Amino acid sequence: MIAHLSPSCGLREKAAIIGAIEAAGLHAHVEGSGTCARILVPGARPAMKRVLLALSGVERVEASDSSYALVARSAEGDSGDARTGTRVRVGGVTFGDPGIVICAGPCAVEGEESIGEAARAVRESGAHLLRGGAFKPRTSPYSFQGLGEQGLRLLAEAGRREGLGVVTEVISPEVVGTVARHADMLQVGARNMQNFALLKAVGETDRPVLLKRGMMATIEELLLAAEYVVSAGNPSVVLCERGIRSFDRATRNTFDVSAIPLLKRETHLPVIADPSHGCGRRDLVPSVALAAVAAGADGLLLEVHPDPARALSDGPQSLRPDDFARLVQRLDAVAHAVGRELAQPNLPQAVRPSLR
Ligand code: PEP
Ligand code: MN
Repeated sequence: MIAHLSPSCGLREKAAIIGAIEAAGLHAHVEGSGTCARILVPGARPAMKRVLLALSGVERVEASDSSYALVARSAEGDSGDARTGTRVRVGGVTFGDPGIVICAGPCAVEGEESIGEAARAVRESGAHLLRGGAFKPRTSPYSFQGLGEQGLRLLAEAGRREGLGVVTEVISPEVVGTVARHADMLQVGARNMQNFALLKAVGETDRPVLLKRGMMATIEELLLAAEYVVSAGNPSVVLCERGIRSFDRATRNTFDVSAIPLLKRETHLPVIADPSHGCGRRDLVPSVALAAVAAGADGLLLEVHPDPARALSDGPQSLRPDDFARLVQRLDAVAHAVGRELAQPNLPQAVRPSLR
């Protein structure tokens, strides 16, 4: 439910409206000011409309049947133009701008030398952010679990050296503080998309959140997971389509390209794509990445490893640095073909790679 306030609504009246909402056990999210001021009341029952209309300062009340009121595109008050929406700034670049943001790096941080090499390679080819897991959610307890806090330090140092912000996964509420100290963006992975304690914990930080779609999650469940983060106080959420599990095992997952334009329609949050986990095969990753940009993705998350054959996780889907460099050139062409561009690398002009 949305209560639109009258232009003359003063501070005392506004406080009384918020008080009435909270007394009903609901949350009041105040947005805008002046003639655009409104209060979103997620989860309000129809009877709340009468309560709100009776209060001084409320001009009109809009019933909203959206179960994810804070992330729904209409909650942003825009007209549904896919180009307008929330912008999320991370390490000198902005998700949700016309410029497409590329996050690249290995699946996992494996050591100082390899993360340094990966960071240099992706930066030289035009990546904007460095990815790499330090806490790895592995299907088998016998697989490489990541270097933990040491991995965070190595990732942050490699990012600093190359002038790239870093994004890395957080797998439990207990380590949110530690990861947030080292990372510019917190990744919540597919396996944790409905770890509600974790969603609340990242929602209480001031770090932007990269929320990946669960491998069995519907679009609505993804949006409700984002609603958890935003309602906990963190508006900076970027959604990521990374493939869902289907009957076909020819690819690791089935990349749902339609999720991109659908999410752009449903939510004001930026939407990016992860073709690496989406198909799980290096030879297919470039085509899927190009399709994602053509479909309107605001960015990409790509696994790149200096020597994929020796990678400790996800080698078969990791691009080699030269594959990645070629892909960036083609992404630039597709971005321009759909009226966009790649974001400007966050580097001094003198060392910017020349794409065209
Ligand atoms: C990852 O990005 O390395 C990862 C584990 O991704 P997902 O959660 O999508 O499987
Ligand atoms: Mn991976």
